[in-house]
Amino acid sequence: MLPRWNVTSRVFIPPIHQTPTPLLSAQISTRLPPYYLNMKFSWIDVSIPFFNATPAIVPVSVNWFPNRRCNYECHFCFHTNTNQYILPLDDAKRGLRMLADAGMKKLNISGGEPFLQPRYIGEIFKFCKEELYIESCSVVSNGSKVTEKWLDQYGQYLDVMAISCDSFDMETNIKQGRAEHGTATTHIENVFKVAQWAKDRGIRVKINTVVTINNWEEDMNDQIEQLAPFRWKVFQVLLLDSENTGAETGSLRDARHLTITTEQFEGFLQRHASQTCLVPEDNDAMKDSYLNLDEKMRFLNCMDGGKKPGRSLLDVGVQPALQDSGFNETAFNERGGIFDWKREAPQSLEW
Ligand code: SF4
Repeated sequence: MLPRWNVTSRVFIPPIHQTPTPLLSAQISTRLPPYYLNMKFSWIDVSIPFFNATPAIVPVSVNWFPNRRCNYECHFCFHTNTNQYILPLDDAKRGLRMLADAGMKKLNISGGEPFLQPRYIGEIFKFCKEELYIESCSVVSNGSKVTEKWLDQYGQYLDVMAISCDSFDMETNIKQGRAEHGTATTHIENVFKVAQWAKDRGIRVKINTVVTINNWEEDMNDQIEQLAPFRWKVFQVLLLDSENTGAETGSLRDARHLTITTEQFEGFLQRHASQTCLVPEDNDAMKDSYLNLDEKMRFLNCMDGGKKPGRSLLDVGVQPALQDSGFNETAFNERGGIFDWKREAPQSLEW
């Protein structure tokens, strides 16, 4: 850690004939001797060297993308299939243990479609609960590959099942590629099915909706009430270079024609204002407020409008890796990053 010579402190200099010892300003109010009263004081600014330790970031809530593969073709996707790498399970567990030691309390697995790696993510959740005692494990899925068999085996290690659903109109889903291979018509039915399966097993259900030019005018109130999620996260479509801004930035997707204005996003929120579970996230709230970890356990820095991977925490340790993240803890707290994220504890388990 490097010392910084950057603090200027005001030092109180009493009249020289009274005392040879400078008195720090903080002392004045509490230790002012009576003989200083009515005296003429003077001040000088001095620089004091000291070690300005950058406070450690506690990675309370981590969003991990273990693999980018997906069977959907959402045009706005901001974590696209640029490679198919997946860490060996033992390395992944080592990294997660390092994060838990650094203070991680919540792990969310996102993708790609996480359920294309069902055993892998199941073993990760099991490890997180049984060995790391992580408070909350959650997954974001498009719902198409979740099975009851998986839920019976691994559902006990899952607190929250987040299902992506932008529209209850099949045509709209297909228009934005929110469908298996971009064309399947089963998405809405899957959303309801998986939500019920999860609830039956005590897993809390969350719905994630991306608002674009295709769905900002939709009224989703009735179906959201039927699904009754504990949280409905509503995102304004976000552009990220090298992911969804067209070939010029090396992106596999192009969402530039899907963007909406702040007023349009507000219009969507107003229409659904009666949904108490609604948690809005506009572009400003999203940016820099997530600790996003990629397939090689590198934090992704979004400060420059792209997603720049830093050093892998497996190579350099958690704190040096976090310094590359661009994470804004204030923005994380302001968007409500900490919430009631645990499932109801089944009687047979202790977390
Ligand atoms: S479901 Fe859509 S947004 Fe999610 S990873 Fe797949 S293509 Fe991307």
